[in-house]
Amino acid sequence: MAAPDDIRLLMLGAPGSGKGTQGTRLAERYDARHVSTGDLLRAQVEQGTELGQLAQPYMDRGDLVPDELILGMVLDDVLGPDSEPSFVLDGFPRTVAQAKAAYEQAVRTGRTVHAVVCLEISHDELIARLDKRGAESGRADDTADTVRHRIEEYEQKTLPLLDYYEGRDLLVRVDAVGDVDEVTQRIVAALSERLR
Ligand code: ADP
Repeated sequence: MAAPDDIRLLMLGAPGSGKGTQGTRLAERYDARHVSTGDLLRAQVEQGTELGQLAQPYMDRGDLVPDELILGMVLDDVLGPDSEPSFVLDGFPRTVAQAKAAYEQAVRTGRTVHAVVCLEISHDELIARLDKRGAESGRADDTADTVRHRIEEYEQKTLPLLDYYEGRDLLVRVDAVGDVDEVTQRIVAALSERLR
């Protein structure tokens, strides 16, 4: 059974909004496991596993990886009955179907989340950040065209999740523009209001 001070958070935000950076910091702060589905997938690709081989073409194009592959990777590992009771999950869910499947599993295993942090940033600011990161990151999917397509995927398939979580009264919107420390402070302040 989950202890009362367990904390389970989801991080939503467009590519380049800072989910990964902030997710890592929040996990440290709350002593929780940090899970990035993008990192898990890149590790699978690197190891040449079957999942990695299936996922890679989607990732290279900037498409979302199909729900069933993602769910196979996440449901048990992150939300299973023996999983870490505290986590910060970034990059999942990205579709309403993923969110619904995750919720059903979480109810069964006592892993429903306490809040969903959404990092908000304007479209123009995003493009500027991602062009900069593309020049520096060395990630295969950080070329300008792919990045633009990832943003389109986010806007079409992931943005509807904001309504989904708002409807469940879980959404915490945070302005993602500013320096990294400042944004962390904002998230922590918003969460401490929320989780009291
Ligand atoms: P970003 O947020 O910058 O797109 P990520 O590292 O979170 O970076 O994701 C990289 C890629 O991994 C995505 O473009 C997508 O192809 C795939 N991916 C990660 N998480 C998911 C998910 N939950 N559903 C579908 N595809 C995913």
